[in-house]
Amino acid sequence: MRGLFALAALLVAALAKETFVGHQVIRISAKDEVQLSLIKDLEDMVEFELDFWRGVTDVETPVDVRVPFHSLQSFKSHLESLNMDYRIMIEDLQTMLDEEQEEMESTARVAEPRNTDSFDFSRYHTISEIYSFQDMLVAENPDLVSKIVIGQSYEGRALNVLKFSTGGTGRPAIWIDTGIHSREWVTQASGTWFAKKIVSNYGRDPALTAILNKMDIFVEIVTNPDGFYYSHNSNRMWRKTRKPNPGSRCAGVDPNRNWDAGFGGPGASSNPCSETYRGPRAHSESEVQSIVNFVKTHGNIQAFVSIHSYSQMLLYPYGYTRTPVKDQTELHNLAKKAITDLASLYGTRYRYGSIINTIYQASGGTIDWTYNQGIKYSYTFELRDTGRYGFILPANQIIPTATETWLALMAIMDHASKNTY
Ligand SMILES: [Zn+2]
Repeated sequence: MRGLFALAALLVAALAKETFVGHQVIRISAKDEVQLSLIKDLEDMVEFELDFWRGVTDVETPVDVRVPFHSLQSFKSHLESLNMDYRIMIEDLQTMLDEEQEEMESTARVAEPRNTDSFDFSRYHTISEIYSFQDMLVAENPDLVSKIVIGQSYEGRALNVLKFSTGGTGRPAIWIDTGIHSREWVTQASGTWFAKKIVSNYGRDPALTAILNKMDIFVEIVTNPDGFYYSHNSNRMWRKTRKPNPGSRCAGVDPNRNWDAGFGGPGASSNPCSETYRGPRAHSESEVQSIVNFVKTHGNIQAFVSIHSYSQMLLYPYGYTRTPVKDQTELHNLAKKAITDLASLYGTRYRYGSIINTIYQASGGTIDWTYNQGIKYSYTFELRDTGRYGFILPANQIIPTATETWLALMAIMDHASKNTY
């Protein structure tokens, strides 16, 4: 009887979870500007139900798109009719997701780790595991780490921020967030690793110690908790928030198009079913509004780093306008230093530049808003990889990704610290 219940529970769980059997991720390469604009048109062709993993940038940069099984044939015919070059990056997405899930389950511990030393950074964790990691880190390092709740998500989850501080009041600060797009799992995993790294290196690494003796560091690991929970339990490919959109069957807002910086301009969608839906108004999402309130109340944040995946890029403002930021030269040179340091470890190559010149025009983005608030060192990372696995980056790449990214973060934090008076 008990086995039957367990089986029934498994069935319910399996039914509740969206599957991606036969879905492929297809890479399209444009031969020229004409083809590039034809690919751009695909974004509006709702009949294919495409999910752009990497949107249109320029002729040199391929576009990656997830195509559901039911529209594969018609989509490929469409590409062929346009004489477009494409190749299959992921043959069957579900096979890859099954492998990811099996690995998570096979490495899951019988007992929860009792301290952050026994926390396994080389695997992906659920939100409750990350939240208990945060509490353990605070309990183990009460003089250095505290937890601040800056608000609640739409579904009522706490928006937790770890504060690393060696004392003082009103100190200048550095902000790092990961996981504002929930499916970008390597980012939350890296954020967890960074939090432990800060604690481990304080008092050992002179550069980090100097930073912490002058500035506080704030880390929000699970910046979109509802989306993250949903990506674990219902739909691995979920990117947006989870707030329903009245009058639409589609839920959620793109929290990286929801900020009051060029809000509603090109490079964001007004369609609630779009992955880049900007929302009904700027800061409509509590996950965004809570950071806005925090930044304004704090009043002395000097560096703001918002971490995404994938593509291997380090970007600075603007995304919504071609007007260069007034600190362009300094931000550009610092980005170059940061990606050079990053590459020194494993040779991972990053592109860098302003958002609009390096990826595409995007309005309502996080760091455009923070820069306009006077936070000079506003950066966005796109972590590994360049599309072999995309969002389904194997867990054995978490630690290498976090370790190399840390070098770039240190370059930015060190520079910010030395230029804060
Ligand atoms: Zn993202």
